[in-house]
Amino acid sequence: MLAMILQRQGRNVLVIDKGTHPRLAIGESSTPTANMVLASLARRYDLPRLAPLARYGTWKTAYPHLACGLKRGFSYFKQVPQTRFAARDNHANALLVTANRSDQVSDTQWFRSDVDAFLAAEVQSNGSRLWEGVTIDRIRRQGIPGQDRPVWRLTGRRDGHSIEVTATFVVDATGAAGIMPQTLGIGRKDDMCRTNSRALFGHFRDVDSWHEVLVARGCQTASHPFPCDHAAQHQMLDEGWMWLLRFENGVTSAGLVMDANRSRLDPRNAPELQWQQTLARYPDLDDLFRHATLVDPPASLVRTARLQRRWRQIVGEDWAALPHTAGFIDPLHSTGIAHSLCGVERLATVLEHHWQRPSLPTSLESYQQTVQNELDFVDQLVSACYVGLNRFPLLIACSMLYFAAATTYEERRAAGVADLEFLCAHDQQLRAIVTHLTDRLQRVHSEAEVRAFCDELAAAIRPFNSVGLCDPSVDNMYHYTAAPEV
Ligand SMILES: Cc1cc2nc3c(=O)[nH]c(=O)nc-3n(C[C@H](O)[C@H](O)[C@H](O)COP(=O)(O)OP(=O)(O)OC[C@H]3O[C@@H](n4cnc5c(N)ncnc54)[C@H](O)[C@@H]3O)c2cc1C
Repeated sequence: MLAMILQRQGRNVLVIDKGTHPRLAIGESSTPTANMVLASLARRYDLPRLAPLARYGTWKTAYPHLACGLKRGFSYFKQVPQTRFAARDNHANALLVTANRSDQVSDTQWFRSDVDAFLAAEVQSNGSRLWEGVTIDRIRRQGIPGQDRPVWRLTGRRDGHSIEVTATFVVDATGAAGIMPQTLGIGRKDDMCRTNSRALFGHFRDVDSWHEVLVARGCQTASHPFPCDHAAQHQMLDEGWMWLLRFENGVTSAGLVMDANRSRLDPRNAPELQWQQTLARYPDLDDLFRHATLVDPPASLVRTARLQRRWRQIVGEDWAALPHTAGFIDPLHSTGIAHSLCGVERLATVLEHHWQRPSLPTSLESYQQTVQNELDFVDQLVSACYVGLNRFPLLIACSMLYFAAATTYEERRAAGVADLEFLCAHDQQLRAIVTHLTDRLQRVHSEAEVRAFCDELAAAIRPFNSVGLCDPSVDNMYHYTAAPEV
């Protein structure tokens, strides 16, 4: 998307990708923030073919051949080891948070192999070049005779052949590879992340429906604000959580994210064995997968090392990294696509106004501070939820911090407030509240302390809660947090 925007700004853009399309990619769940930014980028940079992707209804009409899933919001269910899920009074073991008022305007699960292939084709039809199957392995700064400014010389390989290109500016979007900071020898700061998790994931066929399990068990689904499968579905475990994202082509993206401080999985075991061992502890999840087959990658689940990664520096002279290259925290609450799009928007604005001007370094520095600050905030919000993994009321309360931040961002953006950081990470009052509460979390142990903490949190976020979060009368079923329409 950034390539298309920069091309619109008059830049001569080359996109280099070591992979080829279509292919499995993870990070599939869009949010109201993601869709607001996407719609706005499509308008601002005259990219009308991207606009339909911002809503389920327009997506289905414009691009029925691009697989997606309907996402009305977020659903969370607490699973207890060796125990079947049973309905509890007041939905005490479930949380559903509505993101969109209707299917038509709802968010989507992106079937990334289709979406990414579509975007790659759009890059080319918008006039930029795309080199696929090219792995960049060396980047140098080099002076050019007759030119006062050095350029970047990128060297790579395609089919065993060496390939070279020069560029006046490099945007590093290589994600975990972080080719620019890696090549420049920039230090990491992964250890500063509070969250500490690992993932196992893949795409499956024939995963049973959780909604149907609940119906068969006589749980009160009538009070769900939307079908709980039409969501970024989180099955919360004692030692981590599972995501379930359903696409309409019969495929379900499923992943286990394990808290490194709690997981008892033996790292020497194969990913499939770790998966089976975890499901064996949670009989309902085991049942959900009883007919399922892994379809992508076909041979084996993907297993990650620690998910959290951060670089100390993410910009420099004539280069900048996008958020997912700058760092990553965790898939909880699906912040990835939204944060990436906010980064695309911010970097596009920097390059639009400061391209080859003396002000470019200062504005890149400000971009860096913003992205680092946003990653810090995501880490704070997500790690708080991990503290509550085996105390569901605490987890719900901590999730409300994320929803307060997200809905405040969406409301302010819809009201035209400029210069917002992702999740309002720049808002000192919000940050002070979250810091105070997350520091206090370490001292919350007994049930009475949990209750007192939840009450304190509800009172503290009041200035950022115009959508009725922390309302005990709704029994964890939030119908009305929908984002303003874009
Ligand atoms: C386990 C997990 C679950 C996630 N779940 C969610 C979710 O539910 N919702 C959400 O919003 N986000 C989620 N995310 C985050 C999401 O994946 C990212 O935000 C998103 O993929 C970022 O896209 P990107 O194009 O910036 O980077 P990436 O998708 O990482 O793409 C990197 C690109 O760089 C290319 N590349 C790498 N090295 C080289 C090289 N040397 N030379 C040339 N090309 C190279 C790769 O081929 C690839 O195309 C998740 C992330 C993880 C790890």
